[in-house]
Amino acid sequence: MQKRRMSTEMEFDANEEKLKTLCISSLDEEEDDEAQVDETDDPDLYNDEDDDDEEQVPVTLGFVEKPKNTWSLLRHYFPSKAGGTPAWLDPINLPSEKSSLCDFCGEPLQFLLQVYAPLTEESTFHRTLFVFMCPSMACLLHDQHEQWKRHPEKPCRSVKVFRCQLPRTNSFYSSNAPSEDGTEQHLTAGATLCNWCGTWKGDKVCSSCRKARYCSGKHQAAHWRSGHRLGCTQLHTSLELSESAASNSLWPQYVITNEDECEFEHEMSDSEYSNALVSGNRVDESVKSLMNDFAGDDDKRSWASFQEIISRAPEQVLRYCRSAKAKALWPVHSGRPSRSDIPACNYCGGTRVFEFQVLPQLLYYFGVQNDVDSLDWATIVVYTCEGSCKGNEGYKEEFAWVQLASQSAP
Ligand SMILES: [Zn+2]
Ligand SMILES: [Zn+2]
Ligand SMILES: [Zn+2]
Ligand SMILES: [Zn+2]
Repeated sequence: MQKRRMSTEMEFDANEEKLKTLCISSLDEEEDDEAQVDETDDPDLYNDEDDDDEEQVPVTLGFVEKPKNTWSLLRHYFPSKAGGTPAWLDPINLPSEKSSLCDFCGEPLQFLLQVYAPLTEESTFHRTLFVFMCPSMACLLHDQHEQWKRHPEKPCRSVKVFRCQLPRTNSFYSSNAPSEDGTEQHLTAGATLCNWCGTWKGDKVCSSCRKARYCSGKHQAAHWRSGHRLGCTQLHTSLELSESAASNSLWPQYVITNEDECEFEHEMSDSEYSNALVSGNRVDESVKSLMNDFAGDDDKRSWASFQEIISRAPEQVLRYCRSAKAKALWPVHSGRPSRSDIPACNYCGGTRVFEFQVLPQLLYYFGVQNDVDSLDWATIVVYTCEGSCKGNEGYKEEFAWVQLASQSAP
């Protein structure tokens, strides 16, 4: 099967395609929402399992692939990518230093993935969502605790999501689609980035060489230990500096390709039927063993149904659907948020809605070990401002709900 990139040709030239893929909500769907306003605390508003007769909302699945070239991951190609460094959409007005840190250990957050997801408004002609997280499982466990506090004064998180959007006419990119052969050279200068992580703004400078730049004292120390101690005084060019940046602190880099979930339902029914039976048996085994960990029948049922849906395309790392009817696929029944657990947009006060979720398969591609202390989650669900409000900030913080595999509601 031919996978296509979540790429520029689709977004620039095919508005119909965009509408189909991103499922923009229609007015009557919004009316549906208002009718249910009284039941704001009912988690089932997000998780109707019993409404099988309801029309299926098409989901776009994301898969990772090793990039065939490096230019396609540059920011003027508007990539969807996982691992490596972010391709900042607005290359100047990056998130503040405070937003860039894990609120528990104080380490700079690590880039997980970004999804290019433009909408139909002029102000959202380009639109990318960025997910960062602290690689420490201890911090994610703290994060779980904070997540259940409703409307904390200062939310503390180890998982953060940023939304950036630009109109078609903007100061960073041509209003025409970039060439598809990598010859596009008009890349405007961006903010100077940290020489260690290549992710965050490098506002701090090495006091000795006055060349190396860092986002934080921690990354300066890491760079020093890993060789800048020797390289510092012998620097001739900025090129040498960039070569010394430690990619070992980053997750391996992939391009995210996409595919409509319905494509896989077809596959199951004909040629790959025999394969499906094999993987189905395997899933059954793992479901049985994992189901013993769950206390309630609801959790067992929801885990089995999660596994069944995922097994149609077991390599998926992302499920995307921006529609008023879209819902997250929850692995565990009891650890789901209710509507009032999802805070309103910090910028316009509007409702946040489900946009996509990240699956633990990504950790496999990142080579994260399957140890007790290793980073692990069942799903990360991202909610974004329904109106995708404009505001003045380059990057607006959105909201992520993390469900761990062995978690139940407190
Ligand atoms: Zn941390
Ligand atoms: Zn850094
Ligand atoms: Zn130096
Ligand atoms: Zn908003």
